[in-house]
Amino acid sequence: MRKLILLFYWLFGRRRFWQYYTNVTWNTCPECLSLHGRIAADPNRFPRRGDGCPGEILPFSVWDLPEYREKARRMRDLARAELERRRLFSRATALLDEDPEGALQLFDQSGKIELYLPELERLAEEKAEFLSAHPEVRRRLGEIFLARWSEKFGKPRYEVWPEKMRVEREKWGERRIRELFLPR
Ligand SMILES: [Zn+2]
Repeated sequence: MRKLILLFYWLFGRRRFWQYYTNVTWNTCPECLSLHGRIAADPNRFPRRGDGCPGEILPFSVWDLPEYREKARRMRDLARAELERRRLFSRATALLDEDPEGALQLFDQSGKIELYLPELERLAEEKAEFLSAHPEVRRRLGEIFLARWSEKFGKPRYEVWPEKMRVEREKWGERRIRELFLPR
């Protein structure tokens, strides 16, 4: 059945489709995240965003459509998970002063999805006063972030990185998390 549909596209002169890619990370805007993985018959159907987020539109053969649809599904899941991660992280930040226990849990949930150092740096700066007045909360935050950071590099998306680069990046992040939350 699927093959028939592909043949139908092909007979009507459709040789290629196009897929939109952005880099799913902490500062990719929600509009670009919503385009991630989308497939179109015409590359001009995608908006040219020019907003500083990376964006690429790549062609593929009509015969590969089923495979690319599957890939699109995984890409959309990743983009949605990133939005959920941001929601948890910002709720945790807002809650920290009033309900540190609740906030720690949310930071942990958010970190299970993904963890980005620039956000931890911003958190340490924004909450500097609170954290220096509550060293115990600060220490526990540091431990949560360290644990999630070491998990991060075992995830499939980092497996494609060269081993050396992954190890260096992991160590560098660990040092930075200790500086920010677990000072000696
Ligand atoms: Zn964008």
